[in-house]
Formats: sequence, structure tokens, C-alpha cells
Amino acid sequence: MHEKSLIIIGAGLAGLSAGCYAQMNDYQSHIFEHHSKPGGLAAAWRRGEYLIDGGIHFLIAHRPGSAIYDVYRELGAVQTTTCVDMDRYMRFVDEASGLKVDFTRDLDKLASDLKRISPDDAKAVDAFIGEARRLKDSPLLMDLGMALPPELKGKLGTLREIWAMRGFMKYFVGGYSKSAAEYARTMHNPFTRVMFENLFSPDGPAWFIIMIVATVAAGQLGLLEGGCPGFILPIEKRYKDLGGQVSYNSTVETVLVENNKAVGVRLEDGTEHKADIVVSAADGRSTIFKMLGGRYINDGVRKQYSNWRTYSPTVMMSFGARRTFPDDPPLNMFLLKHPLKLGSREISCLPLRVFNYSDKFAPQGKTVIQVMLETEWDYWDRLVKDRPKYEAEKERVAAEVLSRLEEHYPGIESQVEMTDVATPQTTWRYTLNHEGSPMGWLMTAETLMAQVPRSLPGLKDFYMAGQWVLPGGGVPSCIYSGRHVVQILCHRDGRFFHTFFP
Ligand SMILES: Cc1cc2nc3c(=O)[nH]c(=O)nc-3n(C[C@H](O)[C@H](O)[C@H](O)COP(=O)(O)OP(=O)(O)OC[C@H]3O[C@@H](n4cnc5c(N)ncnc54)[C@H](O)[C@@H]3O)c2cc1C
Repeated sequence: MHEKSLIIIGAGLAGLSAGCYAQMNDYQSHIFEHHSKPGGLAAAWRRGEYLIDGGIHFLIAHRPGSAIYDVYRELGAVQTTTCVDMDRYMRFVDEASGLKVDFTRDLDKLASDLKRISPDDAKAVDAFIGEARRLKDSPLLMDLGMALPPELKGKLGTLREIWAMRGFMKYFVGGYSKSAAEYARTMHNPFTRVMFENLFSPDGPAWFIIMIVATVAAGQLGLLEGGCPGFILPIEKRYKDLGGQVSYNSTVETVLVENNKAVGVRLEDGTEHKADIVVSAADGRSTIFKMLGGRYINDGVRKQYSNWRTYSPTVMMSFGARRTFPDDPPLNMFLLKHPLKLGSREISCLPLRVFNYSDKFAPQGKTVIQVMLETEWDYWDRLVKDRPKYEAEKERVAAEVLSRLEEHYPGIESQVEMTDVATPQTTWRYTLNHEGSPMGWLMTAETLMAQVPRSLPGLKDFYMAGQWVLPGGGVPSCIYSGRHVVQILCHRDGRFFHTFFP
């Protein structure tokens, strides 16, 4: 007999994680999910014989030996076949000069390649690679200080954490706390500038790209062999095996509140469901301002939702081609000779994902390739109101992108037999994330230092998890955030927090 019941809104990574830990700790949970399947942003879909992987590019800590890996194991998400090592992170190609640089595990080679291209940037390159080398060997790389939520760290715990991370504090205040774009502007060589700006997101902090380079060098970056389903479906199975209940196609409209205590949810179909505790692992803005009518906020929440910026949404073009790409790394970045236009943005870098590392995405002799471009919500939001124009723009962008790839892969235009274009509207329709944001709040010095509480002021028995309570989102953070909620529940209910491997 379970002691307390829990309703969880959303079956993304955070919701599924909260559900698994709830079940492990004797809370009876029921997840209500808007979409017809689990995963949220970690999404994949079929187009004929092709599997389009529209989420997680790479998994941090895919190998045993870290706290994060143990958490994946608790959720049943990793087995020996889940991942292949991502030894090559990205290849940059400058169309104008033909120069190429591979970001691989070999930091010495990377340093010498970068310095050969731009001797004027040698000092900055040495400093950057030096940091990556230091981080690669640090136990903190695979820890990230997420074992406990801010609510349970206490003053002493927070001080201990600050002390443990003292070597990395400069990342939050010094030159590496700037955005990657700003940091890149300190480089002299234009191609070097583009590389550092686009190693991850130009808007993300520069230290995050050090972290990625360090993670690759440490051999701790993996590619999901079966795409997102290979990671998500085992977690959903673990949840159900633990006795959790999940209802799909069930969109929550309102969180029911009595005497400032959450008591359940009302779905869009009008049905009401009661529970002792409600957890939202869905979009933060719609949770706070729609489902709860904006009644439980303070200056901190108001400031967060008025001032903080979110990651730009993307337009994702996937192509099924009758050809193979045997020598390509999983990610190429082409610096275009002539920028292409998308809304009011000029795109000068074309990132190409190549799904050639597993046979799960396409039949033999065929390959899925994918280009994901940052774009503007308003542009697609206006277009979608005129369906023929919206469809025409999707076709135009996909055709333009393919024609740009022709220079690198002659014949590709005629070899493509499947085209799929997902816009920010698509992301919103399937996940309800504000303006289709793929990772929630931008990581900045301010957002990273802020400790976002997992509850709302004045509302009892209500908690939040997911990318809207941990700036930057991402797989480990979102999974940890679901775990945090159950840790808080166990603490307040005077219970020991249990975990166990399947
Ligand atoms: C293309 C792409 C690539 C990415 N690559 C990486 C990567 O390589 N590595 C990495 O670590 N991270 C990556 N991320 C980020 C990471 O996938 C996300 O941060 C994470 O999956 C978010 O999980 P979540 O559970 O917080 O939110 P979501 O995945 O958004 O889950 C929320 C769920 O709630 C549901 N929901 C919303 N509103 C309601 C409602 N009213 N009623 C019921 N259900 C509702 C939604 O349908 C959704 O299923 C990527 C994201 C994208 C989009």
C-alpha cells in the first residue's frame, strides 16, 4: 500500500525520472502526457524506412565510472548496446579556403591544428586547451554538483560545494563566462572565430565549450545507437515495471488547488484527477501562468520569466538519401562562402548531422542526414497562420540547404528520397515548450548562479522539474531534476531516499 499519491505532468526525461524515483520510494504516481508517446524533446519519428532522430545529439557520461552514469543505470537507461563512443565531436570545413579541422579526443593534435591555422591565436588556443586538459582529468567533470537540490544542500553543503568547485569559479566570472560568440570575437583568425562560436551554441557560455572538448577527450561522450528511443523507452519500461501509471494524449489544462494546496489536475477533456502531490515536469511558463493562473509568484519568479532569455528555437531538416557517408564524422560544420537567409537571420554556418554510426536509422546503403538551424519563433508563428506559405517556406529552406550540400556531396540532390522539415511550431505542437525552445533558459553567468527553487511561493504540495528549473536543460540536468523532487519529498516526509539498479 503506497502512502501518498503523485500526479506528474509530462513524460519527458524529467517527468519519467520523477516517476521512477517516486515509485522506488513508495509514492504511487500517475503521469499525464500531452503527446502520444514519451520523451518530450528527446523525440524520434519514422518516415517510411527511415528513423528521424530529432533530439539528443550526444550523451554525456555514457561510460561507467561516474555519478551521472549511475543515475542513468538507476533508470535502466543504459546498457552495453545503448551508445557508441563519440571519438570525433565535430569537423569544421571552411568552404572558401578548403581548410578542415577535426575536434577529436586528441588535444595535442587539436592544439597544433588550431595554431597552424592561426599562429596569432596561439596564446588563446594554449589557454583554452590547457583548461580542457585540466577539466578532462578532474572528477568534477562528471559530477556537476547535482547530487542534491538547492533546498537540501543547506548552508554548509553549499559552502562545501563552492570549496570543491573553487578551481572552476573563474568560469562563472572571468572571460570564459562570456557567451561563446563574445569569447570567439577575441580570436584574430576569422575561421578560428567561427569554430569557437559554433562548437555548441553561440549564445551558451564559453566554458561550456571547454567542457565539451574535455568530455570528448575523457572519452565520456556517446552517440545513442538507437537514437532517442533507445534511451527513453527503457526508462518508460522501468517506470511501468515499478508500478507507475502513464496516460498519453492527456493534456493538463489546470492544476487544481484548494486552500493554497495542489490537489490534482483537470485535463483538456474536462476530467479531474486527484492526488496528494502534483509535480509539473512540463513547460515552466504555461505551468505557472496558465495551469496555475499566475497566482503563485514572487519578484524572483516574475524577474525570471520577464528577463531571462531562452535558447533560440530551431528548424530541423532531415533527409533520407540513397547513399552512404563512410568517412564523415557524426557532425560537420560548413562555413558557407555565401550565407543563406532564414527569416531576418543570415546563416553563415551549416551544421550537418550524419547518422552513419548505426544501422537503426536507415536500411543498408542509405543514410539519414540532418541540418538544424537556429531561427526565430515569430517568423514561423506568422507563417503558420497562412498554411500554404508556411509549407512553401519549409520546402524552400530544405531545397536551399540541399543545394548547398551539393558542393560537398556531389549528386546528393538527386539521391534524396525523403525530406522532413520540423519548425519551432512542430516542437511547440508536440511538447508545448515556450516558443519551441529546445533547452529552456540560456546558460549565462546570472542564470547559472541562480538557484531556481523546485516549488512556488505560497503553494503547498506542488513541485517543478525539468529544463525550466535548471538553466541549460540537457539530459543529465533534467534527469537529476526529477530525482531532486523525490529527494525533497522524502526529506519532508521523514523518509530515507531509496534508489536501486534494475
Ligand atoms: C534537437 C535537440 C537536441 C538536443 N540535444 C541534446 C544533447 O545532445 N544532449 C543533451 O544533454 N541535451 C540535448 N537536448 C536537450 C534535452 O533534450 C532537453 O533539455 C530535455 O530533453 C528536456 O527534458 P524535460 O523533461 O525537461 O522537458 P520536455 O522534453 O519538454 O518534456 C516535457 C513534457 O511535458 C509534456 N507537456 C507539456 N505540457 C503539458 C501539459 N499541459 N499536459 C501534459 N503534458 C504536457 C510535453 O509534451 C513533454 O513531453 C536537445 C534538445 C533538442 C530539442
